[in-house]
Amino acid sequence: MSFRLKTILGIAFIELILLAILVASGLSWIKDSNEQQIIDNGEYLSNTFAIATRDAIISTDLANLRAFAEEAVREGDIAYIRIKNDQNQTLAQASNIKGKSAQPDYNQTPSQAVDGIYDIQTSVTIDDWRIGQIEVGLDVTAFSQLVEQTKKYGISLAALEIFLVALFSFVFGTLLTRQLAALQKGAVSIQKNGPGETIPVKGKDEVAQVAQAFNDMSVALFHSYQELSYEKNRYKQLAAQNKMLAELVEQSHEGYMVTDGEGRILRTNHAITVLFERHETTFKNAFVRDVLLRDDHDTEENKLLSDAFRLSETKQFKIEYLKDENTTLWLEVSISPILSTKNEAENFAVIVRDVSGNHEYEVQLKTALAKAESATKAKSEFLANMSHEIRTPMNGIIGMSDILKETELSDEQQEYVDIINSSSLNLLALINDILDFSKLEANKVTLSNEPFSLRDLIEESMNLVAFEALKKDLLVVMDLPPDLPTQLLGDTFRLRQILNNLLGNAVKFTEHGYIKVIVTPETQTENDITLTIAIEDTGIGIPEDKVSEITNAFEQADNSSSRRYEGTGLGLSITKRLLKLHNSELVIASKERQGSTFAFSVSFEVTGNTEDTSNALQGKHIGIVNADPMHRSILTKYFEFWGANVDFLTTQEQLIERTPYDAAVVLFSQYNTFNALTNCPSVGVLPDLRQIQKVPVDDDSWHLIAKPLRMLQLLGALRIVMGVDLKEHDATSSGVIPPISAELDGLKVVVVDDVDYNREVLYQYLKEINHETTFVTNGEQALALYRHSPFDILLTDVSMPDIDGYELTRLIREFESSHGLFPSYIIGLSAHANQEDTDKALGAGMNDYLTKPINRAHLIKALNDAAFARTNLLASSG
Ligand code: ADP
Repeated sequence: MSFRLKTILGIAFIELILLAILVASGLSWIKDSNEQQIIDNGEYLSNTFAIATRDAIISTDLANLRAFAEEAVREGDIAYIRIKNDQNQTLAQASNIKGKSAQPDYNQTPSQAVDGIYDIQTSVTIDDWRIGQIEVGLDVTAFSQLVEQTKKYGISLAALEIFLVALFSFVFGTLLTRQLAALQKGAVSIQKNGPGETIPVKGKDEVAQVAQAFNDMSVALFHSYQELSYEKNRYKQLAAQNKMLAELVEQSHEGYMVTDGEGRILRTNHAITVLFERHETTFKNAFVRDVLLRDDHDTEENKLLSDAFRLSETKQFKIEYLKDENTTLWLEVSISPILSTKNEAENFAVIVRDVSGNHEYEVQLKTALAKAESATKAKSEFLANMSHEIRTPMNGIIGMSDILKETELSDEQQEYVDIINSSSLNLLALINDILDFSKLEANKVTLSNEPFSLRDLIEESMNLVAFEALKKDLLVVMDLPPDLPTQLLGDTFRLRQILNNLLGNAVKFTEHGYIKVIVTPETQTENDITLTIAIEDTGIGIPEDKVSEITNAFEQADNSSSRRYEGTGLGLSITKRLLKLHNSELVIASKERQGSTFAFSVSFEVTGNTEDTSNALQGKHIGIVNADPMHRSILTKYFEFWGANVDFLTTQEQLIERTPYDAAVVLFSQYNTFNALTNCPSVGVLPDLRQIQKVPVDDDSWHLIAKPLRMLQLLGALRIVMGVDLKEHDATSSGVIPPISAELDGLKVVVVDDVDYNREVLYQYLKEINHETTFVTNGEQALALYRHSPFDILLTDVSMPDIDGYELTRLIREFESSHGLFPSYIIGLSAHANQEDTDKALGAGMNDYLTKPINRAHLIKALNDAAFARTNLLASSG
């Protein structure tokens, strides 16, 4: 029987009983109270009638009695009345009953009156003397009907209620069982399809809550089920893997053993039994040490083995194992901890490999490697030594031929000396390249990090090639950002090498047009800057199929023996390797007969910017005469940055016409085209530094500088002519320059600087001060010269390749003391103006230190000091 039916029947049954009790008790109460009232009423009526008829009965007044009786039945409720005498004879009677009446029964209660008449009899007495009797019948049909109707009404009500209750129970039961049915369906579906099924939730009552709880449970079960399935799958996979691994280990030709933490063997694979020719069972619980090693406990292997177990570390070693009298095996043993889930080494895996075959090769290989290494080392050493050894006499040759060039020579001799000089220079460059290349090949080059100015570096490198370029009438252009930070960190020596290689090639392979350096900032933060440096030329270009090859060592686009251009083919390959050290690479874009661009990007740390020239010429109006289009765009960029207005003019006459200008910049194509015509402070730009001396300028309004056009130099020159920067002006004006000491006369002065331009500047200054100045280009030449004939004063650049100024000073001082010579006066020259640099120079044994650009006044003062010191020294030595 369903729950719903049970609910309905149960409720209906309870209702039935309760209602039956209710209806029965109600009925009985209604019946009893009405019946009593009828009985009381009947008694009262019959008593009243007895009293009323007493006299008439005594007097047997039949007429009166009849009249009374008839009167009485006229009342609706009285069915009959009979008046009897004491003889029980009817004296009078009247009745409303139609038809035959039933026999009266005075013992019946009104409800028992079947005929609907309640019979009452009352004696008529006078002082207890019975004189007659009154019999009255009361019509109780209304009462019976009331009882009957009440009964019917009660039962109908009860039936209605039972029906309603049953209906409610049905609906309620249906609702309840429907949710339960859904729950049941859900449960069955979970059973069938697994968890995750949900049932609809309606409303918020307890049943809905149960349904919701069911859904939650189903979802939670679903997740657990998924996890379980995943775990189960994983477990299956792992089990399969394990099986495969176990098989692999078992089938492996390498011996595998698993030991406990103390080295007791727990398991072995087949290969172990084959290797040691022992039955599997003999390994059980044996110690690895006893199986592998000899009794000697002091061996390295023994120590490694103990360490592996003690420190839970992986160890590897090779042992010589005596299998039998005739057979020795070389076994490679590796022990590693097997970590438990708690990361503890509970077991160890020991792998034993028979490497007897390899061992022999290994021994041979090792010997061969050692031989090769020592050969390579010998080669490198030989190369380094030879290069050094060759370089020393080479420097001698170069230095001496330099000096020889300055002596009285016939034209023929002059030509021979020039050939010796240039050939030695070429040979030296080649030796340097080879040495560099072999160092780079051997990864022996590391980059240093020192503060430097990229602008100075590029300008210096450009100056190096400017002379060659000038010979070919090439335009040399530098396009650097006006706000390029002045101090970066980098390896100046290597950067200079890169620039020199690329610029050297650009000039070498270009016959017409220009060579140009373009620096473009890519990204810049406060502390770092990434720049792209591109070297562009309008030279012969490189055939497309050769572009990718030319950076290989000794590769040249033209490898034919009849090629026009000299070179070793090492420059670009050195450059490529140097750029690699800078995490950069060389990007080559070239078109045959049109030109090439070699570009690379490098990042530098920015350590300072001491020269902010923005708005340095704020509001000034400058006329620029005869600027070529390439310089025009650079000049525009810079003058805009400096806050000046510029007019580009074609002739100096135009300048005069258009005045007033605050200043003018006039570019001359030749020194002999110089024309002093101007009417404002002017800076003349000549093609070559050497020509400046040839230009006769008496006019104070002119200041001459040389190409390649260096924008900060131009700014300085403009400030000088305009009187903007008085300090600078004063320093170079004749008023401040001290007189040249007479003691300088006859002193031997040597200048060493690797940069042509710097030597040129010093040459210009020194030719009037001292006539016995020799110029050399590196430390080795200076040293050779000094060893040959010691000089009195040395002006040395501090940063030079190989032997720098500090090293040169040290070597000279060493030579002096070992040969008992008077110490020469050494003046360091450097672009670095920090106190530390001065200290470093003095610490290295120098006597003085000048910062570049060299100021004429400072130079004369330093030389005067040197002469004075020299005289004092000679005097004191007697
Ligand atoms: P080298 O210049 O000593 O021959 P490099 O390694 O510097 O050696 O250059 C290799 C070759 O690349 C050169 O021989 C030349 O063919 C080509 N090359 C280099 N730079 C340029 C350039 N700017 N224009 C044309 N060809 C160039």
